[in-house]
Amino acid sequence: MNQPNDDMNGKICVVTGAARGLGRAISETLARAGAARVYACDINLTPALGWMEGYPNVTGATLDVCDPAALSELSGRILAEHGRVDVLVNNAGITRDALLDKMTESDWDLVLNVNLKGIFMMTQAMLPLMKVQMKGSIVSISSIVGTDGNIGQSNYGASKGGVIAMTKGWAKELARGGAQIRANCIAPGFINTEMTQAVPEKVLDKMRSRIPLGELGEPRDIAEGVLFLASERSGYITGQVLKIDGGLVL
Ligand code: NAP
Repeated sequence: MNQPNDDMNGKICVVTGAARGLGRAISETLARAGAARVYACDINLTPALGWMEGYPNVTGATLDVCDPAALSELSGRILAEHGRVDVLVNNAGITRDALLDKMTESDWDLVLNVNLKGIFMMTQAMLPLMKVQMKGSIVSISSIVGTDGNIGQSNYGASKGGVIAMTKGWAKELARGGAQIRANCIAPGFINTEMTQAVPEKVLDKMRSRIPLGELGEPRDIAEGVLFLASERSGYITGQVLKIDGGLVL
């Protein structure tokens, strides 16, 4: 029989892009694993209003990861309510796909701003709350497009590759002076969310035929990886990229 997982027992967690898709599954998984509090942050909290009701340990926070005033308000609020953060999941991300000759400067700027600068700013805002205990786990959601590239995704691939490089730097920087602040990435393949529902069915079928495990992943597949990297079970793992893609990129 499965034992209830209490890997997050007593932990204070923050998840961005948490209202729907992967962020929702991640928030629910951390909450079910016993987190004392999960701050489910999203630029638009509306899709979360229903599912959050089932979790007394989840608090919604409206937050744009690119808005310095909102970041500072959130860190002040968490400081007042709990005095620390144990786990930060940088999940918020967007796409604006176009072939290289068609991609506009604003498509480039928007994606780099949210997916890369947003993670930099969010982590910078939460870091003092992790330094309180000199301990914590940062898990950022990259993509296999950040390791292997993809047609029509110059901006997205650059942002997700940047997240991996930034994470590796943080693994070194944030473990100095005896600190135990770990930083890791997850690189999902094609996962069944609204983001992939925008992909034409013909393209998805082609993709399925290339995935050794034969199907798109489900949000819970990513959430389980996040739970592992967030918990003490991965206490000696930092600076790594965990691919969860059904074997698509080997
Ligand atoms: P999703 O269904 O589009 O959900 C993303 C969430 O982030 C939405 O609630 C969105 O709000 C929110 N968001 C967007 N911009 C934000 C901002 N500036 N600040 C705060 N929240 C913001 O995406 P998903 O499929 O769950 O993807 C989650 C993460 O996994 C992304 O980083 C994505 O790049 C990555 N990923 C996904 C896949 C996949 O197959 N799904 C594969 C590889 C990597 P709105 O509703 O207002 O847009």
